[in-house]
Amino acid sequence: VIQVLVVGSGIAGTAAALAASRAGARVTMIALGPGASSLAGGALDLAPWDAHGEAAPDLEEDALAVVDALDAFDVRGPSRIVATLAGILRPARGVDRALLDLGPLHDATVWVPSVDWPRWDAPLLARFWSDSAEAGARRLVFMTAPAHMIERSEELAMAEADMAALHDSPARIAWLASRLEEGKKAGAPAASAVLLPPWLGLERSRAEALALAVGVPCGEAMSGPGGPSGLRFERARDRALAASGVERVLGQVTSLAYDGAWRATLAGGAGGEPLAAFDAVVLATGGLLGGGLAYRPMSGALAADPRAAAAPLLTATLDAPLLVGMRGAPLRPPSSLFGGAPESHAWPFAPGSLLERGGVLVEDEGRVRGAPRGLLAAGEFAADAPRTWLSALSTGARAGRAAAGA
Ligand SMILES: Cc1cc2nc3c(=O)[nH]c(=O)nc-3n(C[C@H](O)[C@H](O)[C@H](O)COP(=O)(O)OP(=O)(O)OC[C@H]3O[C@@H](n4cnc5c(N)ncnc54)[C@H](O)[C@@H]3O)c2cc1C
Repeated sequence: VIQVLVVGSGIAGTAAALAASRAGARVTMIALGPGASSLAGGALDLAPWDAHGEAAPDLEEDALAVVDALDAFDVRGPSRIVATLAGILRPARGVDRALLDLGPLHDATVWVPSVDWPRWDAPLLARFWSDSAEAGARRLVFMTAPAHMIERSEELAMAEADMAALHDSPARIAWLASRLEEGKKAGAPAASAVLLPPWLGLERSRAEALALAVGVPCGEAMSGPGGPSGLRFERARDRALAASGVERVLGQVTSLAYDGAWRATLAGGAGGEPLAAFDAVVLATGGLLGGGLAYRPMSGALAADPRAAAAPLLTATLDAPLLVGMRGAPLRPPSSLFGGAPESHAWPFAPGSLLERGGVLVEDEGRVRGAPRGLLAAGEFAADAPRTWLSALSTGARAGRAAAGA
């Protein structure tokens, strides 16, 4: 049996582990903790969403099998429309099932229940959503009317994720449904959907159970960083990995070396027994947020040590036979000690620039360029792929499948 090591437990690492395991490999996953995947808000894009409308390829079978194993997201069918807490409606290729998909609604009234909870300004949000171009095109009206959705006063101080955890209880969902029925009858009888704060479950989405009880589609607005959607992803991942028999180790991989098989070194203390030798390794350590890549402008290095030599701005944080670059070419040290101005490396000042595209150079299926056989990279750690959730899932699934055939 092929032994595969996956480093990283974001969506790319999860997809790699599930795909490799589905292809018959024995999989070990080592990860340090949460990354970008645990902070995303539940809208799943393949291309960045402001590039929607451009033809995006279909998801491959392995990627769809990962989505099915997670059993928490909808990606099939037409593009979705979600409402964000920043007050806009935006398209998404897929969604966390707790989010309300406005895509099927036209000529409709959406009820945004107002409630005395500090982080949900229903009148303001409803006004922004109604005024958005997408609402105009679909003739959607967002209206408010009160609903008594707070049971105990301490809930007023709770964060969204804690409110979502309360709604894991079927009794609380039944209570919420009865409050919504009352509020709808009194203030929003014509509403054809209910758009709620991001409260609808932490273990799993409770939106469907609520919709069944209320009789119209109910769902969350897209949460901001640290909201319940990222935590629901973690729960779905943990269930899927356990069901597929992936062994998990908490730890930080500091280096990888090849001597006919791949061997990983873990940061001190976390390791215990030395790890077995692996036939293939998928690096899914994320980008700047996940910790796989580091941004080191020379101004910082020079402030710490005036003798510092110029070095590339972006580096991998673990030691392995790989090259960091973009557009197929390795990065070189800047010709000036200070490098370029920071804004020349980042969106929105410079679209398609280093911080959006830089990463480990890979060939087909995510094989790390120039590395011995069996080293792959996926997700935000790999160069030149969109920094999106579904891109990380797709590249992860492809790398996992390739690793299992190593
Ligand atoms: C706030 C926010 C909002 C977003 N919104 C959207 C959106 O609306 N739509 C969309 O499509 N995308 C969105 N994204 C982007 C999307 O979430 C990411 O592109 C995707 O989750 C990246 O997944 P990943 O698995 O590559 O990396 P990550 O999820 O970052 O995972 C990296 C993993 O590697 C581990 N790791 C790192 N180094 C080591 C090491 N040395 N040893 C062991 N483990 C290590 C980390 O602990 C982590 O588990 C958003 C991201 C953020 C942060």
